[in-house]
Amino acid sequence: MYIALSGALIGLGEIMDRREFIVGLTAGIGMPTLAWAKTELSSQISLGELQVMTLSDGHLTLPRSMLFAGLDPAAVDRILQRSKVAQGPIHPPINVTLLRHADRVVLFDTGSGPGFQSTAGQLVTALDAAGVGPEEVTHVVFTHCHPDHLWGVLDDFDDPLFPNAEYMMGQVEWDYWFDPNTASTISGDRASMAVGARRRLEVMEERLSRFGDGQEILPGVAAHASYGHTPGHMSFELRDGGQSLLILGDAIGNHHVSFSEPEWHIGTDQDAETAAKTRRRLLDMLAHDQMQVIGYHFPKGGIGRVLKAKSGYRFAPRGEG
Ligand SMILES: [Zn+2]
Repeated sequence: MYIALSGALIGLGEIMDRREFIVGLTAGIGMPTLAWAKTELSSQISLGELQVMTLSDGHLTLPRSMLFAGLDPAAVDRILQRSKVAQGPIHPPINVTLLRHADRVVLFDTGSGPGFQSTAGQLVTALDAAGVGPEEVTHVVFTHCHPDHLWGVLDDFDDPLFPNAEYMMGQVEWDYWFDPNTASTISGDRASMAVGARRRLEVMEERLSRFGDGQEILPGVAAHASYGHTPGHMSFELRDGGQSLLILGDAIGNHHVSFSEPEWHIGTDQDAETAAKTRRRLLDMLAHDQMQVIGYHFPKGGIGRVLKAKSGYRFAPRGEG
């Protein structure tokens, strides 16, 4: 998910700032209780030897008119009401996944950093609350290059925030955003996003490795192409101990409209038709296989399952039916 940076939207974000204070949330089995401080809702789970948790980077503030451009507002409202989404702008949470396995500390995406929206950019605080210093992160894996996923990779001095990490990205996604022509060929309102992505990729170029669809990029972690939201968007399947989980990124970008009506085009998808096909395929697979998921913008920490519903599907957060 992305949004063109604008003063009006930043202002809204400041007004809408809300934090949910939680202490010692433990959804996983056999995981230690962690003291969470002043971060939005997070969640955790174990898959065999893989210890997975989500860390909140805060949340975004997105106008409905952008997210649901071209859709019937009354029909969208009905779905949002059913999903108990409050009136007005949408406030998607931002769930960064942290994986601990053997001596690896792996982040999937890096949040948006301080310069995007005032209610986002809180990943470092969340990492600190989880007892992880930036220097301990061994790998940073990207789903795609939108600001709320990539821009947090640099610190205030434009150096990589995670000094000892290897950075990893799908080859197709890299090729698209590293191409200097993308800023002029992408639709106008996305040009600043392309410039911002390219600048960050240049800093990381020497230490970033690329991978393809289906590749096991780390033990227990396989890349799963989920194109459409961006040209080379990647999801990641974690598998161990007979359990599996798909880190969706923004392949399914919300838990309401895109679950209820997967075919409807979403304003933040760059190729909305391809994104809808990807979404339909993933929802079918996830519901059928009862595979766990992490949605980057799903509620309640983002971990849960996809269930079939009377119309379409619904998201069942971990711990709820
Ligand atoms: Zn996003």
